[in-house]
Amino acid sequence: MSTKRDYYEILGVSRDAPKSRIKEAYRRLALQYHPDRNKAPDAEEKFKEISEAYAVLSDEEKRGNYDRFGHAGFERMYSSEDVFRNVNFEDLFREMGLGFGAFGEEPGFHSIFENVFGGGSRRTQGESLRIPLDITLIDVSQGVEKTLNIARFKSCTACNGSGSQDGQKAVCSRCHGAGQEQRIRSMGISQFITLSTCSVCHGTGGIIRNPCKTCHGSSRIKTSERIRVKIPPGVEDGFVLRVKGKGNAAEDSRVPSGDLYVVVTVIEHDLFTRDGSYLLIDAEISFSVAALGGIIDVPTLKGHASLKIPAGTQTHTVFRLRGNGLPDLSSHHVGDELVRVIVKTPERLSKKQRNLLETFAGEQPTKGFFKRFFR
Ligand SMILES: [Zn+2]
Ligand SMILES: [Zn+2]
Repeated sequence: MSTKRDYYEILGVSRDAPKSRIKEAYRRLALQYHPDRNKAPDAEEKFKEISEAYAVLSDEEKRGNYDRFGHAGFERMYSSEDVFRNVNFEDLFREMGLGFGAFGEEPGFHSIFENVFGGGSRRTQGESLRIPLDITLIDVSQGVEKTLNIARFKSCTACNGSGSQDGQKAVCSRCHGAGQEQRIRSMGISQFITLSTCSVCHGTGGIIRNPCKTCHGSSRIKTSERIRVKIPPGVEDGFVLRVKGKGNAAEDSRVPSGDLYVVVTVIEHDLFTRDGSYLLIDAEISFSVAALGGIIDVPTLKGHASLKIPAGTQTHTVFRLRGNGLPDLSSHHVGDELVRVIVKTPERLSKKQRNLLETFAGEQPTKGFFKRFFR
């Protein structure tokens, strides 16, 4: 279990806060905890925490997944690199007049930005992708294989991902192949070193003089791909299957592709309610069956089963159909189907039934519940 604090709580906003409110809250806290301004020992940790919360809640897709799956589920879907991807902290800090980089004297600060934001440094992996998949309770009980159509960037095969028609690449003259550039600016006694992705080579470190005709020098192409995935039996709603390397190829061909995350939704069943590996169902029985006993037919996920009702069964009694539940994902132990019987009182009676019931009522012992209380 994750022990992380709730992102909304960290930013001090309500769960339905609009984007503008989230940004406003982050700006306020960033001004308070930015290491340029706050020298308290826990400021750095705090700054990381609010920045992560902002990165998630400012992105519609990430926020949606966080709302639905919480920290634990969210962490299975996003690498820490993904969390900060596509959030332009650099511009945001510039708007606020805050540094995005390092004090020359304090190398530790440099690493916060490197670690937290990837501070313009090289990517270690291409972008990951997430795709939703709906499955039924029957799929849960048996496991299922599905073919998914994925639109993803693949490394261009025509140029082997180099982006160059002739395979030649010149070393970028701006960053000398480092892929990032440093800007140094002085403010009072502090010197700010801003690290950002090289604007000339876009982080690849090389310049293509003769771009590949297939990918136009981008080194990757958008493709539609069919991917077969196997969902094991027993998964819960929100289960995430990671398919390694089936996310987007990185622009830099030296970096591996991202991963694909298949996010499973288990569709609700008309008859059964799921509780872990148990399946719950209500079955109506007549009051004569409840009183006299009998055998009823109960639906199961595989078809139906016979259930013996003993004489004198009370309404809401729960019976167990052993092994008719769902398998547990890790132990593979199969749970039970729990049948709760609801005794149905007849609403309309024939004359004969009425007479029989009246006779039955006449046979009842006279000293009942109320007699005891109101004598
Ligand atoms: Zn460069
Ligand atoms: Zn190419």
